[in-house]
Amino acid sequence: MKIFKCSQCGKSFESVRKKKYCKPECRPSNPKKGKILNSNQLIIEKFLKSPKKLWSDKKQMMKELSFCKLLVKKYGKNFWFKIKPPFKMISLSWFFSINGRKFLQIEKSKLKLDFSKERAYYEQKENPVAKSNYPKTNKTLLDFLRDE
Ligand SMILES: [Zn+2]
Repeated sequence: MKIFKCSQCGKSFESVRKKKYCKPECRPSNPKKGKILNSNQLIIEKFLKSPKKLWSDKKQMMKELSFCKLLVKKYGKNFWFKIKPPFKMISLSWFFSINGRKFLQIEKSKLKLDFSKERAYYEQKENPVAKSNYPKTNKTLLDFLRDE
C-alpha cells in the first residue's frame, strides 16, 4: 500500500496502485475535457441514478441543483460526502419526503455517534431551552439526538 493525495479533494488515501482520486465521486465526469465538478454537482452525481442524463437537461438540472443547495444548507456539505446513498434515486426531492427525512435523521445521529459523545452533548448544550427539557440522567444519547 502506498499513500497518494487525491487531485480533487486533497485528501490522502491508501492504494495498491497509483491513483489520482480517492473515490469515484472525486473523479471528474469527463476527464478528457478536464472538467472538475463543484461540490453540488459531486453530490448530485453521488446520489442520482442517471446524472449524465441530468446534465444535458438544463431545466431538470436547475431543479436538482436547487434541491441540492437546500440540503447542503440544512445539513452541511461534509454530511453529504460522508453518508452513503440508500439507493440511487431519480431526484434529490426524495430527501424531502417522509422516508427521506427519516433516513437523514438516522444518518445524522450515526455520524454524531461516530465522532464523540462529548461533542453531541456540547452541541446540544448551546441551546439552553432544549437543554432544560432533558435532564441528562434519564435520557440515553440516542433519545437525546432524536429529540433535536
Ligand atoms: Zn478525493
